[in-house]
Amino acid sequence: MDRYKIIKSGIQEEWLIGCPVKVEKFNILLDNQINQNVIQIKYKALGNKTIKSVWVDVHCYDDAMDLITTVSDVAYVSVNAVKGSNFGDRQPISANTNSIGSIKVAVKKIVFADESVWRNERGEIGIILSEQPSLKEYYGELYDCFVTASYKIRGKFVKTFNQTDNYWQCTCGQVNTKDTINCIACGANVEQLKTISNPDYLKQDALSIETQNRLAEEKRIKAERGRIEKERIAAEKAVEENIKKENEKKLKRRKIKIVSVCILLILSYIAYYTISINKICGRYDWSSDSTLRSTPTILIEKTSPFTIKIFFGGVCYSGLYFPNIITFGTYPSSADAGGKFIIYNGYLRYINKDIDINNRYGFPIDINIKYDKFDSKK
Ligand SMILES: [Zn+2]
Repeated sequence: MDRYKIIKSGIQEEWLIGCPVKVEKFNILLDNQINQNVIQIKYKALGNKTIKSVWVDVHCYDDAMDLITTVSDVAYVSVNAVKGSNFGDRQPISANTNSIGSIKVAVKKIVFADESVWRNERGEIGIILSEQPSLKEYYGELYDCFVTASYKIRGKFVKTFNQTDNYWQCTCGQVNTKDTINCIACGANVEQLKTISNPDYLKQDALSIETQNRLAEEKRIKAERGRIEKERIAAEKAVEENIKKENEKKLKRRKIKIVSVCILLILSYIAYYTISINKICGRYDWSSDSTLRSTPTILIEKTSPFTIKIFFGGVCYSGLYFPNIITFGTYPSSADAGGKFIIYNGYLRYINKDIDINNRYGFPIDINIKYDKFDSKK
């Protein structure tokens, strides 16, 4: 059987306002060997000064909360507790009773490391601190704003911040003396807590966040529109470029076609020209025509791919051949120095500028020579 048995564990809600020590927890045990209660109490050091020693009175009650006894002037010596630290729980307190149901501790005297002393002459236990409502309950619609604001500062955020003239209760639930700037439990700064806990601040903050979000959204939309417009312009440009390129290609193809057709025409013309000039060249004997006995022979010879020479009427002329037309001599500048043959309908017709086609004068003008009468071999 264990020597010690825990009868009850509890917390002391009361705190004497301004006291640099707060009772946090206690255990009431029964020492089976001597059949008496033993008490363990855990304290927390508040305030800024290091605590050297503490004296307390422990009021012991039975289960009906009737006072049984008071263990007076329990001393915790040389605890050297700095702000926020715990002490006392390793020091058992003996009580000459075995029927303790609960206790209340009155911190009576504290001696600090700097030798200064805090006293509670009247041995008051203190008051139960006001309940801190939960944040959601307290802030309602502004709760999210509070959460957002709380990200900006250090601390633990569970309960509503409360500040009085003598102490402040942190959002973590810890009570702090008025001279404490940063919560001894979570480190939250009292001024920052005060700021972000103010609903007016939260409303303003929410507005500014809303404004920022709106501005950011507007900026995003503007950027998005800009991007879309850029893409549209780029797409239009691409289409225009394509059309332009296509048109250029078409134009090129058309040019090539035209040039090809032209080349083809020229080649055809050259071929036709060459064939027909070769065909027209040759000797023809006019002797069968009585009117041309003085010039019984016409001789057409090619002198270059485009020029010919003609022996006609006893004279040799230089000539030019166009399909179906032979021009020779100085015609049409001189009356009889040359002339023109027009080839039509399978016949040659001689024309002198001064001789009307219908006026038979000088040389006969109708020389009906069938092509097939031409024979270059003659
Ligand atoms: Zn705190």
